[in-house]
Amino acid sequence: MTAFWTEPDFDDHEMVHVVRDRKSGLMAIIAVHSTHLGPGAGGTRFWHYPDPKDGLRDALRLSRGMSYKNAMAGLPMGGGKAVILADESRTKTPELLSAFGDAVEGLNGRYVTAEDVGISEADMVAVSQRTSHVSGLPVSGGNAAGGDPGPFTSYGIYLGIKAAVQHKLRTDSMAGVHVAVQGTGSVGGGVARLLAEDGARLTLADIHADGVAALADELGAAIVAPDDILTTHCDVLSPNALGAILDDESIAALNTQIVAGGANNQLARTHHGQVLFDRGILYAPDYVINAGGIISVATEYLARRDGNVATIDDVNGLIEQIPDRLATIWQTSEAGGASPDVVADTMAQELIGRG
Ligand code: NAD
Repeated sequence: MTAFWTEPDFDDHEMVHVVRDRKSGLMAIIAVHSTHLGPGAGGTRFWHYPDPKDGLRDALRLSRGMSYKNAMAGLPMGGGKAVILADESRTKTPELLSAFGDAVEGLNGRYVTAEDVGISEADMVAVSQRTSHVSGLPVSGGNAAGGDPGPFTSYGIYLGIKAAVQHKLRTDSMAGVHVAVQGTGSVGGGVARLLAEDGARLTLADIHADGVAALADELGAAIVAPDDILTTHCDVLSPNALGAILDDESIAALNTQIVAGGANNQLARTHHGQVLFDRGILYAPDYVINAGGIISVATEYLARRDGNVATIDDVNGLIEQIPDRLATIWQTSEAGGASPDVVADTMAQELIGRG
């Protein structure tokens, strides 16, 4: 493997830990970008990378993203990310998950893990047999926080969309506001349901035709083909599917006043935030508006660590701070002429002591 400090994505990461366990076949990279605010927290990705260098890049890039996201969510957590380099047939055994748990435990709490792409709740339960530095575990129900972060992510995005509408369209009511939702899975579906309750007009698109048709029926929403959602004439475009959807071509064709959704890394390149700003389209930085899930995961972990149980009300109370954070970003952006994504990055860097 290449020297990680020569990688373009290396950003003074505090730790890059390479794990090899021959017996179980585990090969993993655990990157901790910053522990300035607390333990480096971020999920574990289980993925087959034909070139392991791409796994290293993901760990570096995603752990830095978690530092920014956790800081902007007001959490006492730093940023980290683990990547398990799966073999071609993506063999995932109990032994491999145990060895990964041992590796996390060996870092003595500098890194806290949870689910990410390719890792299920059941996998995290297996990891939790070997380390307590885990979150995103199932909850028994009632008012206890934890479990699937999707609904919490949706709630934060819904509040963020309302804040964007208030800021840009100068109205507190969502009645009749037209929102185009790209991706109606766990996050997008939840956002659409919450908006429908407020009387928003919805247009939905998903590559899973049956699922989107059922949701549109339930909510009285319109449907367009996946290829048409980005150019739909609407008030708010809410991307909740893929990253890198906002590039020169797509931004030029947008027919919206606001982009506010949960998909990670929506800007294809960093300068695309400025391109949106120049077009007068209000952008909600993705890692600020989609922090509801990590707020739930972190609150669950911190309470368990301290021998307490966090409630859903505790989590929602923190998620309800997302709109004010977005408003501060937009006001700073408009006052200083920097795009909202650049303002958010600058604020995050200051919070983690790298301003
Ligand atoms: P999901 O898999 O449940 O839903 C994604 C949906 O997008 C699926 O229904 C899929 O069919 C659809 N989709 C894929 N390609 C599409 C396309 N080209 N056009 C339209 N629809 C398409 O995933 P999710 O958990 O809802 O996550 C959605 C996004 O939000 C991802 O970018 C994810 O990284 C991000 N995110 C999720 C969470 C969370 O708590 N789940 C938290 C933060 C960010």
